[in-house]
Amino acid sequence: MRVLAVGAHPDDLEILCGGTLARFVREGHEVVMCHATLGDRGSFVHTSEEVAAIRGEEARRAAEICGADYATLGLHDAEVNAADPAQQRLVVDLVRETRPDLIITHYPGDYMGDHNEISRLVFDCSFHATLPLYETGKAHHTAVTPIYYMDTLMGLGFEPTEYVDVSDVIDTKAAMLEAHESQLVWLREHDGVDIVEQMRAASRFRGLQCGVSYAEGFAPCLTWLRGTTRRLLP
Ligand SMILES: [Zn+2]
Repeated sequence: MRVLAVGAHPDDLEILCGGTLARFVREGHEVVMCHATLGDRGSFVHTSEEVAAIRGEEARRAAEICGADYATLGLHDAEVNAADPAQQRLVVDLVRETRPDLIITHYPGDYMGDHNEISRLVFDCSFHATLPLYETGKAHHTAVTPIYYMDTLMGLGFEPTEYVDVSDVIDTKAAMLEAHESQLVWLREHDGVDIVEQMRAASRFRGLQCGVSYAEGFAPCLTWLRGTTRRLLP
């Protein structure tokens, strides 16, 4: 399978589904990790341009650790907007270029706007990508791709219906997250959290729910054309 994972910011995928992505790669699937924004507005010490360059490099390294390909939409933090036709075209083209069999993205009820807007963009544009007369210069995708929503931050307001055992890859997941060195500092200073410790606690919590050491929780998008009889997650 080709798996397209789309997070709002560099580090979201690592926190919320990094173990599952590492397992997909290990089991022979192709994974593209795309973050919508450049991560360019979270710093007390750098300019936007500086922090975008740093975080792009960190995200590239994180994807490399699990063997995934890396992409970004190049948007600015706090400006992800599902109603913006230019952003819609970017996501249509992302889907047309990667031609995924499965998409993983944010649950549309997470804690900040960019997460919810990119969730909406992915939902809308993975459908629009199949329309031959929505012209972007790239061939239309041939199927409306199943979507799995990943967990919210600390699981708030999210009820998983499927779990992926990430016990074997929890250290890979931690290494992917630790590649985001600048973000670890930012989250400590801005939000008062050790994000690696928080990720381990959340993965442990989901693990306890399904009887393994560490797990990640997901919920399928079950609108028409998205359902399948096959288990798509590892
Ligand atoms: Zn985020």
